[in-house]
Amino acid sequence: MRWIRDRAFPIKNDVGEIVRIAGIAEDITELQQIELMKSEFIGIISHELRTPLTAIRAALGLLNTGIYDKKPDKSKRMIEIAAIDSDRLVRLVNDILDLERLESGHAVLEKTTCEAADLIEQAVAGVQAIAKQQHISFHIHSSNAHVWAAADAIIQTLANLLGNALKFSPNNSTITLNVQQQKDRVLFQITDQGRGIPADKLETIFGRFQQVDASDSRTKGGTGLGLAICRSIIEQHGGQIWAESTVGVGSTFFFTLPLH
Ligand code: ADP
Repeated sequence: MRWIRDRAFPIKNDVGEIVRIAGIAEDITELQQIELMKSEFIGIISHELRTPLTAIRAALGLLNTGIYDKKPDKSKRMIEIAAIDSDRLVRLVNDILDLERLESGHAVLEKTTCEAADLIEQAVAGVQAIAKQQHISFHIHSSNAHVWAAADAIIQTLANLLGNALKFSPNNSTITLNVQQQKDRVLFQITDQGRGIPADKLETIFGRFQQVDASDSRTKGGTGLGLAICRSIIEQHGGQIWAESTVGVGSTFFFTLPLH
């Protein structure tokens, strides 16, 4: 099935009589699909943005009425709600812009030779404080492989995967990072001992605003865009990213990067 835009124009002679019809038939299937995706995306975005905005507006509205003027605990709680939802709004806007820049090709990823071990070290350093709070330890099996990559973007990918592993892991568990040089690529693996991901969700979670449980992003503070951003970054490196999991045992996220 294809979409065709059909247009016809009358061609008149000197005295104004129609003597011919000229027509243009244009295949606009792709355009139509892009439009559909765009309107779906805008629909989802506006819902996602409106949710925290409504909470902020409601909290400020209540404060503004003055009903909590003599109830400092309640006022404080309203300010807390407004602050938490503002943070969420900022995260959402940043992630939406990141994804937009990546997918539109406006974010040019400048690649250089990077040491895989360095990338892992920097990403782990960024999440170490959260891991400590949850008494989660990292087991790192690095290699001396070099990859051809945009360091910041790969650190962002690793940080997101580690952040997810931490979010869905129980206290006192272990997260294992593995780097393995293969024939023409380097394979990265991040394994957690968390709740796992059902088989039918292993692929969909890489889509925008997709979660295993609809409440995940709200309760765990995510945006539902993290894995979509990771996939976009890895694909722009010519690599692949996927997940394997056993529910109740844990999950492993894999991605590959080209060798230097
Ligand atoms: P979010 O910002 O919600 O974490 P992501 O795109 O990073 O968005 O992840 C999408 C969803 O995939 C999460 O909300 C969660 O349901 C699931 N998920 C991701 N990583 C893990 C993991 N390590 N263990 C269990 N579930 C995970």
